[in-house]
Amino acid sequence: MAAAAELDSSSSLQTEHLYYGDTYNFSCEAKVLLIKDVDLEQGTKVIVTDRTVLHPQGGGQPADTGMIRSKDKETFFKVSHVQKPNKDSLYIEHIGKFEGNERESFSDSVVEIIVDEGRRRRNARLHSAGHLLDSAFDVLGRTELEPTKGYHFPEGPYVEYIGNIPPDERDKVIADLNQEATRLIEENSQVLVSKNDHGDRIVNVGGSGCPCGGTHVKWTGEIGQLTVTKITKKKKIIRVSYVISD
Ligand SMILES: [Zn+2]
Repeated sequence: MAAAAELDSSSSLQTEHLYYGDTYNFSCEAKVLLIKDVDLEQGTKVIVTDRTVLHPQGGGQPADTGMIRSKDKETFFKVSHVQKPNKDSLYIEHIGKFEGNERESFSDSVVEIIVDEGRRRRNARLHSAGHLLDSAFDVLGRTELEPTKGYHFPEGPYVEYIGNIPPDERDKVIADLNQEATRLIEENSQVLVSKNDHGDRIVNVGGSGCPCGGTHVKWTGEIGQLTVTKITKKKKIIRVSYVISD
């Protein structure tokens, strides 16, 4: 979706990211700071709150979807997209529409935000699965491969590395990765979230940590079955495509 409201970049709006604290916290109370039209014809609006459980799209992870509703459960705003207007923004935009009645705002500034639980759980599993492949490569001794990018969307997820795996070795590497990933998942180790000296959030799934702002499972066993499907190369980048079980 295109950029939503043109809010002043010096705005004092700020949203606390509750999804960092607990992936499985599916609802929260919050205070509405701003409601603004995005598209009058479509009825689309942006809502900014002081805190949220909804993860914005970014870092290779799709946005959560969900709902913002009044505490009396009379007014519903269906959230179809969540974003930060830019990387350094302190606030999060919930984009969607009021549904089910004629009201286009909340009677009280305190509302309830609810995340679509199934989508959140799947996004977390997909994201953690991508990180687990970094750990699997480490265990296989392929530390020369430098992780660059992850795409943890349900459609065609992959992780990319700077480096090379020659074509005639790829089938063997895929088999080794799948074996190692299965072992790391069966081990069911805890996913560790910490901060490094620069204040970056570091997520460690299965032994290898890296900076990340995504939502993750708590234990590797929650990933389920992870299967690497192919390894392809473009210029200096190796792409490792994977799927997870339903
Ligand atoms: Zn990540």
